[in-house]
Amino acid sequence: MEPWEAPVRLLPLPLPPVHGEVFGWYLHRLAAANQVTAGQLAKTLTPFKNAEVGKRTDTLWRWTPMVLPRLAILTGLTPETLRMLLPAIARIEARTAGDVVRYRRRLYVACSHCMHRRGITGPVLAHRPADLQLCRRHGIWVDGNRHYRVGHLPELVAAQHRHRRIAHRFPDTLEAGTKEAQHLVRSWLLNKNQPHLLSRWNNRLAQIPPKEAVYGNIIRRRVDEREYIATYPEFVTLLGMVADPAWRARRAPRRWVNLSQHRRTIDAAYAEAEHRLNVPTLREKLRSHAFSNDALFRWTDSLGRSLMLVTTPDDYDALRDESH
Ligand SMILES: [Zn+2]
Repeated sequence: MEPWEAPVRLLPLPLPPVHGEVFGWYLHRLAAANQVTAGQLAKTLTPFKNAEVGKRTDTLWRWTPMVLPRLAILTGLTPETLRMLLPAIARIEARTAGDVVRYRRRLYVACSHCMHRRGITGPVLAHRPADLQLCRRHGIWVDGNRHYRVGHLPELVAAQHRHRRIAHRFPDTLEAGTKEAQHLVRSWLLNKNQPHLLSRWNNRLAQIPPKEAVYGNIIRRRVDEREYIATYPEFVTLLGMVADPAWRARRAPRRWVNLSQHRRTIDAAYAEAEHRLNVPTLREKLRSHAFSNDALFRWTDSLGRSLMLVTTPDDYDALRDESH
């Protein structure tokens, strides 16, 4: 009889998975606690020919839903609990049911202080919900390989709270909006054309303390991790606008046919962003060509259609609001 056909029973130390934990990672923790190998555990779950299972293994293409009832017996947890905690289970089931499985690998190392409370001393690799950036209980930024302490910057905690609300409110446009809002803040950070935002960001950068833990062998470092943290509140503010279907509809080319109509769209978008970000102006370079190259200007017209209509210097004026 193959190991995956033999009866299974409760392990001596049946550790539960951490929420969102990568399957291979969990199997390794469970195996180590019970002094077996992850490969041996895998063989008791499902037809599995290899000697070892990778810690980062999570796709499990050849695995079947029989993993779930057997893992439930091994761990003493209900199938519902395992399904809720381990994203790989839901994926195996969806794939078996013939559903399209959308797989986004957004991994993070769980807050070490939270893990300590559960008696886990080593790092835990898990899937990160799109709106989880920091551990609110411990004030630690967990989205990245350096877990910066940011608890003294309350605007980051507040921003994550808003981020969560936006994610629930605009699920269909969240992914596109995230890319766009990230582009807006990155562009303004790098081109230094927005002095109000820049001073805010530099202020915050100066307050981000040295790293606490580095998980370089688990998570790849983002080159601009500190800048990413410093600009996060403004990113969330802009996300609330650009992910909003009402604002997305306003910029659609169908809504305007000439430059002065488009100018009203541009004015409205800038006025809204200035209001939400609480800055006196985002239109610093209004009189120069840099304005029509500004990231928010581009957002109102991603196809560059308005610039195709520009044929004379006067046309540029039509894109600028004379009252500013
Ligand atoms: Zn924590």
